[in-house]
Order: sequence, then structure tokens, then C-alpha cells
Amino acid sequence: MVNIILFGAPGAGKGTQALLLAEKFELTHLSTGEMLRNEIDSGSWLGQQAKSIITRGELVSDELVIDMIGDQITRHPHAKGFIFDGFPRTQVQARELDRLLQEKNMQITALIELEVDTNELTCRLLKRGESSGRSDDSSIEVIKKRIEVYNRQTASIIGYYQTQNKYFPVNGLGSIKDISERLNKQVRHFLP
Ligand code: UDP
Ligand code: MG
Repeated sequence: MVNIILFGAPGAGKGTQALLLAEKFELTHLSTGEMLRNEIDSGSWLGQQAKSIITRGELVSDELVIDMIGDQITRHPHAKGFIFDGFPRTQVQARELDRLLQEKNMQITALIELEVDTNELTCRLLKRGESSGRSDDSSIEVIKKRIEVYNRQTASIIGYYQTQNKYFPVNGLGSIKDISERLNKQVRHFLP
């Protein structure tokens, strides 16, 4: 089983590349951002709570996303492996993910970081905002806030995986195809 965290700042390309990886290696794609957007679209109470947090560019509570991920892992008992996209985003989430996986005799294989510089991230998010209508991509202030939150709360979890020799950076610049080929090459190393 391979369980990959596809990591990177907002706009690094996690969602796009996670879909391609999931398809190629038959992994189950779990995106907490997508789950939250589905909750918002459904108009649920949870979605209403999440919406204001996301629109500010902040993070929803550790407890909430850990519960969502725990549910999804349980719902896919026959998964060949998981690809985590946009989760974990804090040290607490990283440790809790390990605990959830351990309960089921599973573990994280690797955290792969898509490396993209801040200028490029900002450009990509503004462009995405024009086409997606995502409120958190449409304002430069919220984009700056999200990148700041990433640097302050999220980036440091790299260290957590580095000490376990599970950290693998990949250049996130270039065409979707080029980046996808780099990722495929990396993931092939983890296959039995
Ligand atoms: N979010 C969160 N926790 C998560 C996933 C998403 O708080 O585990 C919120 C957060 O406000 C984030 C937004 O949802 O800025 C969009 O997340 P997503 O991962 O979809 O955005 P990306 O980083 O891919 O641009
Ligand atoms: Mg995404």
C-alpha cells in the first residue's frame, strides 16, 4: 500500500496532480478542501461554519478535518492506497493522521512537496479565481493571507516527515504534463 501526502502551498497544483496520480496508480484521492466545498454547496450547518473561515483564508479546526479524514479512511477499507491532498495542514493534524493510519495498520509512505515560488502561486490563484469563482481565490488580500497561513502553520510539518526520511520535494514549475511525469517517477520508487 502506498499512502502519499501531496503537499504544497495554495496554488501549487495539488488538486490537479492528485487526480492524475490517483488515476495512474489507482489510489483513493482525499481532498479536505473539496469535502469542505461540498459541505458549503449542500448548505449544511458544517458548510456554513466552514464558509466564513475559508472566505477569510484561515484554517478550519483540526478536529473537523481529522473527523472528515477518519470517516473517509473507514469508508474505503479496500483502498489500494490514499493520496491526501490539502491535508494535513498543521502539526496536530499530521500526528493525528499517523494515529488514524496506525489503528488500521497503515502508515504514510511519503510526503511529496510541489515546490512553487510565491509570485507564481499568486498569479495562479488569481487566474483560478477568474475561472472557478472560488471566493478565496478572488481577492489578493485573501490569497496573501492563505500563503501567510501556509508559511506560519503548515510549512513546518515538512520537518515532521523529514525526520522520518519521508520528505520528497518535486519541482512544481512547468507544464501539467512535465510535473505529472516528475511525480510519477517519484511515486514509482515507492511501489513494491
Ligand atoms: N481548508 C482547511 N483545512 C483543510 C482543507 C482546506 O481549513 O484541511 C480550507 C482553508 O481555508 C483553505 C481552503 O479550505 O484555504 C481551500 O483549501 P484547498 O486545499 O482546496 O485549497 P488549495 O490549497 O488547494 O488552494
Ligand atoms: Mg486544491
